[in-house]
Amino acid sequence: MITVNVKCPHCGKSLIDKKKLIDGKPAIGVKLTYAGKNSMLYLSSVYGSYSVETDLNVPNGKIAGFRCPHCNADLKSTRKCDVCNGHMVAFDLKDGGQVQICSRRGCKKHIIEFEDPKRELEAFYKSYLKAYNE
Ligand SMILES: [Zn+2]
Ligand SMILES: [Zn+2]
Repeated sequence: MITVNVKCPHCGKSLIDKKKLIDGKPAIGVKLTYAGKNSMLYLSSVYGSYSVETDLNVPNGKIAGFRCPHCNADLKSTRKCDVCNGHMVAFDLKDGGQVQICSRRGCKKHIIEFEDPKRELEAFYKSYLKAYNE
């Protein structure tokens, strides 16, 4: 199982919440805002998993706001989703590069961009092999 380690692009603090487990791994925790309400949103840190947990009921197809739980910065990216035209939300990968997800509930668009794809591929391969050997 490959997990992504992300941090806030603004304050640089880790967005991984070790107390909250999804898919058996520490989840990515961000502040979700919708219709004037706030709640934590937990996303699976497992690569390729769409598991999420939140108390805030954002209707399917609606766009929610994503903020850093540490510095409260808006995580909205300048990029738009090429599927639904909603705003993408960006997180920095700890080892360089970015993960972007669509802010529209129900849209599964996400992009992972590595600063150095070759090195990252190698890291993925290594952690896969490590998991395989454990
Ligand atoms: Zn922050
Ligand atoms: Zn979208």
